[in-house]
Amino acid sequence: MRTKYIFVIGGVLSGVGKGITTASIGRIFKNYGFNVSAIKIDPYINVDAGTMNPVEHGEVFVTEDGDETDQDMGNYERFLDTDLFSTNYMTTGRVYQSVIEKERSMFYKGHCVQVVPHIPFEVIERIETAAKKTKAEVMVIEIGGTVGEYENILYLEAARMMKLDHPDDVAIVLVGYMPVPSHLGEMKTKPTQHAARTLNNSGLQADIIVARGKYALDKPRKEKLALFCWMKPENIVSAPDVESIYELPAVLEKQNISKLLAKLLKIKLPEKKSTEWDKFATKVSAVHKKLKIAVVGKYFATGDFTLADSYISVIQAVKHAAIWNGADAEMTWIDSEGFEKDPASVKDLKNYDGLIVPGGFGTRGIEGIINAIRFARENNVPYLGLCYGMQLACIELARNVLGIKDAHTVECDPGTKNPIIHINPMQAKNVASNRYGGTMRLGAYDCELKKGSKVRALYGSDHISERHRHRYEFNNDFREQIENAGLEFVGVNKEKNLMEVIELKNHPYFVGSQFHPEFKSRPLHPHPLFVGLIKAGLKK
Ligand code: GLN
Repeated sequence: MRTKYIFVIGGVLSGVGKGITTASIGRIFKNYGFNVSAIKIDPYINVDAGTMNPVEHGEVFVTEDGDETDQDMGNYERFLDTDLFSTNYMTTGRVYQSVIEKERSMFYKGHCVQVVPHIPFEVIERIETAAKKTKAEVMVIEIGGTVGEYENILYLEAARMMKLDHPDDVAIVLVGYMPVPSHLGEMKTKPTQHAARTLNNSGLQADIIVARGKYALDKPRKEKLALFCWMKPENIVSAPDVESIYELPAVLEKQNISKLLAKLLKIKLPEKKSTEWDKFATKVSAVHKKLKIAVVGKYFATGDFTLADSYISVIQAVKHAAIWNGADAEMTWIDSEGFEKDPASVKDLKNYDGLIVPGGFGTRGIEGIINAIRFARENNVPYLGLCYGMQLACIELARNVLGIKDAHTVECDPGTKNPIIHINPMQAKNVASNRYGGTMRLGAYDCELKKGSKVRALYGSDHISERHRHRYEFNNDFREQIENAGLEFVGVNKEKNLMEVIELKNHPYFVGSQFHPEFKSRPLHPHPLFVGLIKAGLKK
């Protein structure tokens, strides 16, 4: 089968679930057995998401090959249950960078290089390269932003060109928002009508509209929208709010979205489809045990609204592990600075079944995090430290068990005499010369697990590979002392002798990893380290 491309474009406003819609459409085709891949296009100038503040932009999702990408890439990996690569992600910065590099090397053979057509040509080439690399039969492509913005015009132009060349291989899905203004109490179609027309201005006609709203779209409004958007009513699919995002594929499929797309794209749908996904989605509502997990860190300062975005993979990883253990994990976000102002309040952590310290950077709130880790260690609260959470657990033990009072990471105290966490010379050079973008230890690295450890038992394997995103490392000069105090390095990268996983003896569950296990947790395959935390939490 020739690769079929489904572009998903947003209308009216952002944040209505375009990423989950894209992922769900992909999942539906995956259920039919097709090889599905996904692309996220971010129309900003940053070359990658790695240089952006997670509070502003959301989590930085890391791919196997070490690209720092948008959080939607995580949604696609989780829904499609597949790995995506650097080629599946593009930003305007990246596209322009390669066009300019090509121009400098005479690639364009003396021609004038122009925004149109050369930028859309580059976009198309990247889309086709990603399809080839992932052997995609169906490629879903999400264009960031909404129609009518300056930023994404060149991507709409690329979609238009592709559709013109291969009308049977390209479909356009518009995700429009359907507000219900409180003073009217009625769902309004006009904003989405405008979005569909704005899309027309770019030379594109929506093949399908996904009408996002709090409520389902009723028949009169569906007909109205169809009429004004020059479409058939059956090509308008309603996507009301759902309890769990994992239900959305079933909601869309009930309205025959796969048949509609298959007809447009001349795809022959097989008779049979897998029900594995929908079975998982029903598990979500069937959980009955309750579990309370505290997450202590920073990046919580701007209020509830950004939280879910800054730590989306951590949240999802907790959910996956909990659901597979029949539990519903309620997560509480605790700003670690509170434990600095009022150190005694750390004892409130005894009310939780588990503590997570997620990844982070810099000094703010660090002492509060260390207090929290100490409490978990001394009071048998199940603990999982992710990256910074592992580094700080080592520092806590050095300070409070070994009595090395000034033990620290050079990230916070460059002059410390006891750099438990240090930096290698190459990384030090990067920092000294402001080479921040894309220079951390990124992506998948191997790790050997120690026989007899809890972590080894959870993974059920001696060799693992996990994704990284950090600049600093555990300092092996302190290894013996730390291990003698009971904190064992049960995961090691043998190639570079880097400490990857810690596990405390005589504790129900006290584990930290230098890598980010949350990036590899999938709804259908919960991650062993999170499963370990949840199991220990349920026992507590
Ligand atoms: N700040 C630490 C480092 O760079 C940890 C990073 C993280 O938690 N992702 O090494």
